Amino acid sequence: MKTIGYATDSPTSALEPFNFERRDPRPEDVVIDILYCGICHSDIHSARNEWGWTQYPFVPGHEIVGRVSAVGDKVGQFKPGDLVGVGCLVDSCRHCESCEEGLEQYCENGFTGTYGGEDKIGGTPHPFTFGGYSNQITVDERFVLRIPENLDPAAAAPLLCAGITTYSPLRHWKVGPGQKVGVIGLGGLGHMGVKFAHAMGAHVVMITTSPEKGADAQKLGADEVLLSTDEVAMQAAQNSFDFLLNTIPVGHNVDPYMALLKRDTTMVIVGAVEALTRVDGIPFIFRRRSLAGSLIGGLPETQEMLDFCGEHDITCDIETIVIKDVNTAYDRTVKGDVKYRFVIDMASLQPEAA
Ligand code: NAP
Ligand code: ZN
Ligand code: ZN
Repeated sequence: MKTIGYATDSPTSALEPFNFERRDPRPEDVVIDILYCGICHSDIHSARNEWGWTQYPFVPGHEIVGRVSAVGDKVGQFKPGDLVGVGCLVDSCRHCESCEEGLEQYCENGFTGTYGGEDKIGGTPHPFTFGGYSNQITVDERFVLRIPENLDPAAAAPLLCAGITTYSPLRHWKVGPGQKVGVIGLGGLGHMGVKFAHAMGAHVVMITTSPEKGADAQKLGADEVLLSTDEVAMQAAQNSFDFLLNTIPVGHNVDPYMALLKRDTTMVIVGAVEALTRVDGIPFIFRRRSLAGSLIGGLPETQEMLDFCGEHDITCDIETIVIKDVNTAYDRTVKGDVKYRFVIDMASLQPEAA
């Protein structure tokens, strides 16, 4: 299927209009007209090859919301017109222990990322997948999610990555009432971490480097703000947290954050998909604390998260853009200048690429 999108062809090039082929639908496939796609910081790390694994041309985008335009004969759960989403995964082996448990993100044989993943299904001239900065996508129904119709589709798009990446560790580590929970870094992921931790009943502290974001704390669901650059405040908050969710997008010294935890509690790293610059053993050993990591979420839990958002009326705080402004949006995201997620309105794509 002829598809139009935006791609970059080197770490230093801008994203530009790009024509490519999607596979024609197989019996298990759902074809989706993409309405909106969020801009995740991972799109930027990947477009600029900051993790060293990008293949070009590269079409980013894994926070996809759209309407089903066609379905294959064997598709049972979706029909044309349904509001659906696609997140970071479009395929996995489906038979390893992780896949059987619905934890496809930890597939022992390697999941297929929505972009830049090895395309094991094929049917296109390219060996790897292209993401959601495009007008349509073909996806196996197992990897398609249902978006509650009461949610604004643009503001729901970032739930597909920022939402599930923060919801999953909060659930796994059983965050709830009576706990003091800190969310570190108020970007796309962090602002959803604050909303979810609040909805789960925790006492939430927004831990930020940006004093001006404190003004939004209450609106987002935070009970307190802790400025991580204020050494006196950080000192006073030591040994007081039951859980920390760390979304800082680059390697950093984790010691000042680990010191915030009580005995026997955990900080989960979701942001730094690279080396941490400093991790001292003392904060772990002396208070039996843990440092852990977490990757997005599997398909069943992503659907659970979307349904939770439908019930609690939770969406993302977004700034909608036309696709020709995507390069400016990348620079602004890197500067932390977005409240709190850019979402591309894909209706702007057609005339641009024509
Ligand atoms: P984002 O929107 O850019 O937000 C990151 C926030 O971190 C910034 O707004 C800023 O918040 C804070 N920050 C930035 N640089 C910092 C620094 N040097 N030191 C301290 N704080 C800093 O990014 P995002 O889309 O939320 O993504 C966050 C990270 O998670 C990215 O690296 C992304 O690749 C990764 N990610 C991981 C997964 C996963 O499955 N584990 C999934 C999606 C994304 P303040 O202004 O509040 O300090
Ligand atoms: Zn993402
Ligand atoms: Zn598997």
